[in-house]
Amino acid sequence: MIRWWSTASIRVRLTAWYTAVLALMLVVYAAVTFLAVRHEFHEQLEEETHTEPDHVVAASPEDRVEQQLGEILVVLVLGLPVIVVLAGVGGYVLARRALAPIDHLAAESRRITAERLHERLSVSNAHDEIGTLAAVINDAFARLESSFDQLRRFTADASHELRTPLSVIRGIGELSLRETRTPAEYKEAMGSMLEEVDRLTRLIDTLLQLSRGDAGTVRLSRDVVDLGDLARDVASSLSVLAEERRQRLDVASAANVRVLADRLVLRDAVTNLVDNAIKYSPEASTITIHVDGGPEQATMTVADEGSGIPPEHRDRIFDRFYRIDEGRAREMGGTGLGLAIAKWAVEANGGQIALEPTSKGSVFRISLPRLGAPNRT
Ligand code: ADP
Repeated sequence: MIRWWSTASIRVRLTAWYTAVLALMLVVYAAVTFLAVRHEFHEQLEEETHTEPDHVVAASPEDRVEQQLGEILVVLVLGLPVIVVLAGVGGYVLARRALAPIDHLAAESRRITAERLHERLSVSNAHDEIGTLAAVINDAFARLESSFDQLRRFTADASHELRTPLSVIRGIGELSLRETRTPAEYKEAMGSMLEEVDRLTRLIDTLLQLSRGDAGTVRLSRDVVDLGDLARDVASSLSVLAEERRQRLDVASAANVRVLADRLVLRDAVTNLVDNAIKYSPEASTITIHVDGGPEQATMTVADEGSGIPPEHRDRIFDRFYRIDEGRAREMGGTGLGLAIAKWAVEANGGQIALEPTSKGSVFRISLPRLGAPNRT
C-alpha cells in the first residue's frame, strides 16, 4: 500500500485525498443532519401527544416517526457512496486537466537533447505557475547551452593550439631526415624542436591549471599578502624582459595595502598582466604598476603605453584563446590563455579583474577586498 502510494501519480493521489476528505465531511454532515431531524421529529411527537392526550389513531405516531426516520437514513446511507464516487470521478478529471500542462512540459523537455539545446519550451501564460516553471527550465537550458558552446569552442581551440606545435615538430623532423645533414644542422633542428616542445609543455600546463580551476580542485592557501611587495616582486622578476625592450617598469605603491590571498596564484595573475604589458607595448615605453587602497578595496593597476585594446574586443579579451592579432600574439609566444588565467586567479581569491576604459594604452585593474585597513587618526 505504502509502495503503491509513493509511486502513484500526483493526479491519483490528489483524487484519493480529495475523495477521502469529501467522504469524511459528508459522513459527518449526514450524521449531524440525521440527528437534528430525529431530534425535531421527537419534539413534534411530544407536542402532538400533549395536545391529543388520548395517543387513538390507526398507526401510532411513534411508529410513523420511526418509519420516516428509517427512510431518511436509507436515502443518506445509499446516496452517500454515489455522491462520493461521482465527486471522485469529477476530481480525477479536474486534476487531470490541471496537471496536463506538466505532462506537456515533460514531453517538450524530453525532446530537447544535447544536439537541440537551442530549442525552448513554449510558454502559453508566463504568469501562472506552469509558466513560471517553464521559464525556470528555459533558463536552465540557456545556461546549459552556453556551457556546452563554451566547452565545444574550448575543445576545438585547444586541439588547434596543440596541433600547431606538433605539426611544426613533425615538419622540422621530416625536413631534417629528407637528406643527410651536418651535425650542426641536426643540432639546430633539435633545438627548434625542443623550443616547440617547451611551448607545448607550457600550453598543456596552462590548460591543466584552467581545468583544475574549473573543476574546483585547486586548493588555495590564503595568507596575508602585501600588494606593494607582490608588485615589486613581479616587477623585479620580469625586469630582464623589460630591459631587453628598453622599457621602464615602475611600481608606485601606497603602504600597507594588504589582502587575504593565495600569494602564488595571485602572483600568476599579476605576472601575466605585466608580461602582456611588456609584449604588447612599444620599445622604450613605460609600464606602471600602481597599488592603492580604499577603506574596503585594495586595487592594483597595470598600465602601459601600447596600442591598447580596441572597444570591440573588450568583452571577449578574457575569453580562453582569444587574441586580437593572432599572428602577432603567437609570434610573441602567447597562448591566448594569459588573461583567462589571470581572471580565474583573481576571482578564485575573491576579487575582480577588469579592463579600464582609457584613451591611450591599456590599463588592467585588479580589485580585492582589503584586509585590516590602517586606522586613520
Ligand atoms: P596571449 O598569451 O596571447 O598574450 P592573453 O590572454 O594574455 O593571451 O591576451 C589575449 C590577447 O589580448 C592578446 O593576444 C593581445 O592581443 C591582447 N592583449 C593582452 N594584453 C594586452 C595589452 N597590455 N595591450 C594590448 N593588447 C593586449
